[in-house]
Amino acid sequence: MTVYDLHSHTTASDGVLTPEELIIRAKHRGVHVLAITDHDSISGLQAAQNCAFSQDISIINGIELSVTWKKNNIHVIGLNIDTTHQELSNKLVELQQIRQARAIEIGTRLQKAGIKNALTGAQQFSANNNITRTHFARFLVKSGKASSMSDVFKRYLTHGKPGYVSVEWVSLENAVELIKSAGGQAVIAHPARYKMTNAKMKKMLGDFTACGGSAIEVVNSGCTKQVIENNARLANQFGLSASIGSDFHSPDNQYIDLGRFSALPGNVTPIWHDWKMTERLSENRFS
Ligand code: AMP
Ligand code: MN
Ligand code: MN
Ligand code: MN
Repeated sequence: MTVYDLHSHTTASDGVLTPEELIIRAKHRGVHVLAITDHDSISGLQAAQNCAFSQDISIINGIELSVTWKKNNIHVIGLNIDTTHQELSNKLVELQQIRQARAIEIGTRLQKAGIKNALTGAQQFSANNNITRTHFARFLVKSGKASSMSDVFKRYLTHGKPGYVSVEWVSLENAVELIKSAGGQAVIAHPARYKMTNAKMKKMLGDFTACGGSAIEVVNSGCTKQVIENNARLANQFGLSASIGSDFHSPDNQYIDLGRFSALPGNVTPIWHDWKMTERLSENRFS
């Protein structure tokens, strides 16, 4: 049976492993098809494709786009995207500019809250200057401001807390349109993490489906049986196919690891049902 992990991060965003290190770990953990889906960046994909052949693993070119939908921050994954697509690349430049400006503002706000040099601190945790809240969180934990990653988000980096800065990311419609025009499939990442009411989730999935979205993540590392069942119900209700992925960032979190998650329920259509691999596993060309 082919093992798919369609959500993972590298040093191109807030993962701690380089694309090569990630691939070697995925291989050891029995993953056959790995999508690399860095936040608003495709800069790790070339190195990943170069390394995939020698490791005999199939790498899917992916991305995790930051989206604002009705003031909610949601994540939309693109799978099998053409990394040379101009419109997508242009949007990524814009998103990186938003990230840079937001990082400066987060640093200023934390300074006002009595935490010095947070921007420089966050930058030191980032290999490619694609600064996310995770980099600030790692700096804050290291400086002893909080005991764990979840603690630091709760105290400093979420809505209403000193280091939270709200920005307007790409719209849901635009995100799906960009992914589709780059030849990819759009997937709603970790639906249960948005803490939306059922009604709001249905409105969001209605909008997503209307603009051509393909799938939702039904299973991530750490999802409970109940969450998986609910996600599967939503997938079927909206005629969406089902994706699966760890959302791996770092070996430090023992609960989230490559290939470590429950199986997709039998009543959903896997997103890969119509993917056609060529005879070479390492080439990610699908017709
Ligand atoms: P950003 O896109 O810069 O707002 O950063 C979002 C990232 O922060 C997510 O992709 C997660 O990796 C991380 N994150 C968000 N909330 C938490 C949390 N409670 N605990 C650990 N990491 C989190
Ligand atoms: Mn992340
Ligand atoms: Mn995400
Ligand atoms: Mn992710």
